[in-house]
Amino acid sequence: MRLKCPHCGSDATIRSSRTFSEITREASVQCNNIECAHTWVAQISAVRTIAPSMTPNPKVYIPVSPRSPVANKAGSAQLELGMDHPPPRLATG
Ligand SMILES: [Zn+2]
Repeated sequence: MRLKCPHCGSDATIRSSRTFSEITREASVQCNNIECAHTWVAQISAVRTIAPSMTPNPKVYIPVSPRSPVANKAGSAQLELGMDHPPPRLATG
């Protein structure tokens, strides 16, 4: 993963990182431009699930991305549950 300095836009280097939580790592980052020399702390977090884990950690919850095929299936199921009237196939007969 390439990081850019937020001040001068130059490439930056991760100097160290540590686990911040189950879903987040925290890194010390330094700008490669010696005239800038900005050094900062950055975080990288898991924010959306694209495909669910086959070995899920029960302590971890990462919401499903709306673009995920899994989310589309869940969305259509919610639409059916949210209907005010029964589907036509149940209304006949
Ligand atoms: Zn910089």
